[in-house]
Amino acid sequence: MNNELSLYVHIPFCVRKCLYCDFLSFGDKESLMDEYFKALSKELKESAGDYRDREVKTVFFGGGTPSLPNAVYICNILADIKENYILSKDAEISLELNPGTASFDKMRSYRDAGFNRLSIGIQSFNDEELKRLGRIHDSKTAVITYEDAVRAGFDNINIDIMSALPGQSVESYTDTLNKAVKLGPEHISAYSLIIEEGTPFFDMDLDLPGEDADRDMYHKTAKILNEYGYHRYEISNYAKDGFDCRHNKVYWKRGNYLGLGLGAASLVDNVRFSNTRDMAEYISLSKDGIKIDREELSVRAQTEEFMFLGLRLTEGIRTDDFNREFGKTVFDVYDEVIDKYLMMSLLELRDKDMNITCDKKKAAYLRLSERGFDVCNTVMADFLL
Ligand code: SF4
Repeated sequence: MNNELSLYVHIPFCVRKCLYCDFLSFGDKESLMDEYFKALSKELKESAGDYRDREVKTVFFGGGTPSLPNAVYICNILADIKENYILSKDAEISLELNPGTASFDKMRSYRDAGFNRLSIGIQSFNDEELKRLGRIHDSKTAVITYEDAVRAGFDNINIDIMSALPGQSVESYTDTLNKAVKLGPEHISAYSLIIEEGTPFFDMDLDLPGEDADRDMYHKTAKILNEYGYHRYEISNYAKDGFDCRHNKVYWKRGNYLGLGLGAASLVDNVRFSNTRDMAEYISLSKDGIKIDREELSVRAQTEEFMFLGLRLTEGIRTDDFNREFGKTVFDVYDEVIDKYLMMSLLELRDKDMNITCDKKKAAYLRLSERGFDVCNTVMADFLL
């Protein structure tokens, strides 16, 4: 058991719902903000007692649109965290921010309160594409927001961009990539749009890019971002050296994290639990009343998750970590499937210096090859026991 902890804080308010969004967020509940933040503060204080011996290494305010509420709400929650948890001196403290909701002054307040990383949901620099997504901002606002964030003192900024959008061509996506690198953020998350059931997009007749265009965009992402000094460290995430998102790595490496706020999920010492997704319940109940779906993970589920999440990282899984966690080697459990994909050159073994090796005894890392990343879903599915 390690004594490190990450905190995720969910802020479920948005100006309005984007057409592709299936996150737990609302465009019509601003009137509940005051009560929500009171409940959030209460939850985090009530929970703190269970984590007295843990050092909080990362904090992430996500949503929703955490930059929508008055900055005082957000800064007060961070102050509550500092007061009630052991926050590491060098903690990474991130906030998700959407253009059109954050002024320079707001960003100064976040910086003064202790936030040291921003994640800006730009998505595209093409105004037509942004409109089709139902986003509230245009490309000009996106650039101003980014520049304000830098002026406000942030030197660790992520921007999100999306590919495979309705009406998007390879050229317009390339233009978005070029504009993103020109701004020069420390981190870029490049996601491909997934049409989720229950969203307005699911029922719309959309002009989506074909498979070839989709592939092309995917390859352009790696090519252009590499050229500009961003290394890929996860399927959809790229960073300049030293700027990998520490918080997200906790998820992929199955570290301990506590979710605070509506619907927030947690994993602590191999026990999963979530908070209710019902706003009225969240606001009215105490900590123990809102925790639902508690599940102690079996060794089998832990092993599958370890592989599934770890293979998302370009470094792959560390064989030593597997040994430590499960008391046997990854080859004891997965020898057949590993051999199959080694033969197909979709997986590879690397020694401690990251040199390729065929010797399983020397393998410090097991990871997807460049080609393996292209078909990662198929490979990963084979790691289900
Ligand atoms: S801003 Fe983000 S969370 Fe809010 S509706 Fe749009 S996609 Fe969903």
